[in-house]
Amino acid sequence: MTDIPVNIELGEHGLYYGTSPALRGLLVIGDSVEQVRERIPAALEELRSVAAEGPAAMTDKPDFEKLRALRNEALGKMIEAFAAERGIAPSQVRTSFNPNACYCACPGGPCEHDFQGWREITDDEGRVCGGETVCARCGMGALSHSMRVGP
Ligand SMILES: [Zn+2]
Ligand SMILES: [Zn+2]
Repeated sequence: MTDIPVNIELGEHGLYYGTSPALRGLLVIGDSVEQVRERIPAALEELRSVAAEGPAAMTDKPDFEKLRALRNEALGKMIEAFAAERGIAPSQVRTSFNPNACYCACPGGPCEHDFQGWREITDDEGRVCGGETVCARCGMGALSHSMRVGP
């Protein structure tokens, strides 16, 4: 089962897309919300196995370029398989997935996020009312990252 937040939206061709703000590598496609939910554990498993097969996953300085490429390849295969199943071209399967998003296999796996950034949080009138540590590379909030990684 999964404890990460997943957004399920209705996209083109009557397909449902499951993505997670906390886990950018996650993309699940299905014919219904139920089908997307059912497929989430397998998609998470897939992401984890990509991390485990990563050539430099166990070293201090992982090769994130390569890990991202492996992750994107796995996603590409998923999209191709899904498109074939539906009889549509893979390019017709639209996703909001960013192939350049930081590689993150937390907890336990290599993580590319670099929480050196800072973003001010403003209220409705534009006054600064707080701030948040963010990834300097992709802008992901440290809070949403630890919500996923934390217990
Ligand atoms: Zn991470
Ligand atoms: Zn990042």
